[in-house]
Amino acid sequence: MAAVTATGPRELRIAVIGAGMSGILSVIELRKAGHSDVTVFEKADRVGGTWRENTYPGLSCDVPSHLYQYSFALDAEWSRRFSPGPEIFDYFERVARDHDVMRSIRFGEEVTRAEFAGGRWHLETSTGHRDTFDVVIAATGVLHRPRYPVIAGLDDFAGAMFHSARWDHDVTIDGARVGIVGTGSTAVQIVSAIVDRVDHLTLFQRTAQWIMPQPNPAYTDEEKAAYRSDPGRMAELHRSLADAFGLFANAIVDASSPGIKMIEDACLANLEDNVHDPELRERLRPTYRAACKRLIISGDFYGAIQRPNAELVTSAIELAEPSGVRTADGVLHELDVLVLATGFEADAFMRPMRLVGRDGWTLDDEWAQRPNAYLSISIPDFPNFFMLNGPNGPVGNFSLIEVAELQFAYVLQLVEMLRDGTCREISATRAAMDAHEAARTEAAKTTIWVTGCNSWYLDDRGVPAAWPWTFARFREVMSAPVLDAYELVG
Ligand SMILES: Cc1cc2nc3c(=O)[nH]c(=O)nc-3n(C[C@H](O)[C@H](O)[C@H](O)COP(=O)(O)OP(=O)(O)OC[C@H]3O[C@@H](n4cnc5c(N)ncnc54)[C@H](O)[C@@H]3O)c2cc1C
Repeated sequence: MAAVTATGPRELRIAVIGAGMSGILSVIELRKAGHSDVTVFEKADRVGGTWRENTYPGLSCDVPSHLYQYSFALDAEWSRRFSPGPEIFDYFERVARDHDVMRSIRFGEEVTRAEFAGGRWHLETSTGHRDTFDVVIAATGVLHRPRYPVIAGLDDFAGAMFHSARWDHDVTIDGARVGIVGTGSTAVQIVSAIVDRVDHLTLFQRTAQWIMPQPNPAYTDEEKAAYRSDPGRMAELHRSLADAFGLFANAIVDASSPGIKMIEDACLANLEDNVHDPELRERLRPTYRAACKRLIISGDFYGAIQRPNAELVTSAIELAEPSGVRTADGVLHELDVLVLATGFEADAFMRPMRLVGRDGWTLDDEWAQRPNAYLSISIPDFPNFFMLNGPNGPVGNFSLIEVAELQFAYVLQLVEMLRDGTCREISATRAAMDAHEAARTEAAKTTIWVTGCNSWYLDDRGVPAAWPWTFARFREVMSAPVLDAYELVG
């Protein structure tokens, strides 16, 4: 920690970029901590981020709803164990309204540039608006920028075509011949939801996926009433689910753990017991270990893909033609609708926003190789700038809300040092970031993610861009900043 001169307390002007789950959380927690000058910039016209943009049939959370919610806004009304997307979107909008977050949001304003000069951040937005802030919190999301596949002739396809995160609800899928590219969580949810509505469903699979079977029961009126009348019971459920998912998180960072073995056994039994045609079963059998890619949670995918009108295509896509998609085996799959469930640019983070730190050092300079940040939160030479769900943070089958809450509590402690006058500028030192990165890449070697699959977790070196330690360690590290890791400027 560099020596600093105490400067006395001051009121901070704080900008939050993004009004998704993390941005809403930021405003609520900042206000609780007594910060009144908070402005949120949201490029869209509503809150909700992921849950505003993804409206495809079958969308639901894949961690239980009683965990995938803020710890300070527990909801007794969740309809199912894994509630549908529109319900989750309503939840975020309601929490934002109930906590009076909306008045702080400037909708329709994308932050296009932010520069640190004269000890403050100067922001510019897509509308030409300019403003100056002491602190910036980037809550811009991870799975935000759709990734489109490179398929020859895609523009020639004469039917309707869209990315799953841009679902076109004007297109009729009922009775149509629908093709889906991709086999991630989204594709699996879509297949299960639409197979009984379409005339023919073609799933183009490049990589088979392990599927963890999970029923999705509805909560009864009695259960909801019990949660309503006893919030303590809900809090207990939230806590016990967090513990259970903590165990899962611990299992995936140790490829030889008994926990991973249990996951593998459950996925294998699901495949063996529930896919009846041996030839189809082999085509659905992954060639890598369960949880190496993000584990897919579904109680109905295998049933759906075995419907008479469903077809699993494993021959590689060669090109798109006006009437459909042709695969390497020469077959033309005629389609009315083509859905690209091909995921997101998971390393885009805040970009294309232009970010300029101290002395003209830009984010493009800093991230020329790949995104990195000390503990996913702070970047050297970008003082008073903090990220939620930034690069290399915990990813996996657990609640990113819990992750964001823990990260925010940590960020708030740094912000407090700016407010109470301990320092005027704070950012991680390069030495701390490099040491963290070296330890992280070393620890990643024993995780399940590096056991022989290709996934969006892996960076250009094949190193998982993720937190490779236990969730308990994440909680502990987030509980209080180690100030030696920071450069404090008086
Ligand atoms: C289909 C799908 C299902 C998922 N299911 C789960 C799940 O079950 N459990 C789980 O934990 N996570 C899940 N996730 C991850 C999910 O993204 C996070 O849980 C969470 O919603 C992220 O919230 P966020 O606020 O950090 O980011 P986002 O929801 O992506 O919100 C970011 C916001 O920032 C805005 N923004 C971005 N850049 C700018 C800019 N320059 N200027 C102004 N505004 C900007 C965006 O418009 C957006 O509103 C899922 C993701 C997807 C895509």
